[in-house]
Amino acid sequence: MLETIRVLEEIQRLDLEIAATEEEEKRYLLDIEIADARAAALAGTRDKASAEMGDINTRIRDIDEEIRKCGERVQKDEKRLGEIKNDRELKALNKEMTTANKAVKQHEEEKERVVARLAEKKTAHDAAVAALGDATGLSERLSGEMASKKPAWEEIRQKDAALKETEKSRISPQIFKKYESIRSKRGGIGLAKVVNETCHGCFIHIPPQVYIMLKRGVSELMTCPHCHRILYTEADPAPGTNSQPGA
Ligand SMILES: [Zn+2]
Repeated sequence: MLETIRVLEEIQRLDLEIAATEEEEKRYLLDIEIADARAAALAGTRDKASAEMGDINTRIRDIDEEIRKCGERVQKDEKRLGEIKNDRELKALNKEMTTANKAVKQHEEEKERVVARLAEKKTAHDAAVAALGDATGLSERLSGEMASKKPAWEEIRQKDAALKETEKSRISPQIFKKYESIRSKRGGIGLAKVVNETCHGCFIHIPPQVYIMLKRGVSELMTCPHCHRILYTEADPAPGTNSQPGA
């Protein structure tokens, strides 16, 4: 049984090595996805700000046109001043000029507000463009890194898969099947070391009789009553070393 355990240990080591490359690739994919989602959101913010700036610029042109028209009216009124014949006409013209001047003032005030809003939109737009550049840069950098690491990951996976096949042929198919079944249900770890009567798969104490049988080296595989992983112990275990994480 000890030989079987050693083979399972090696299979587990290979499985963990393969899983580590898969985890690393998954982390890259997730980080790229996050950067891409951020870039898409920022592109939306940039486009919205652009559209709003366009609208504001149109409004500014309209206001300028209003100001120009009012200015013309004032000039016309000023010319008419010389042709005034009586007080009534003068009063009416003054009133008209006051109205036109007031309108110019109102338009100019509105223009000031609109120009300030345009500046705000431009700040938001420029910030989005800068952040978009960062997010796109990050996504590209991560994609490049991932692509450069991929061949090494593939190599590890292929090499370890072949080694695993060799190891597998050294144990009974039933035991291998059992290991694979536990591994798939238990976060990729099918084998757990027992140190100080504690399963290092789930870190729960195992019954003393199970521990005694393990230490004695029984002919059958022992499993943890809590996490069901295949248990093993070393003749002279160094506490805290080579323990497997996760439950
Ligand atoms: Zn356990």
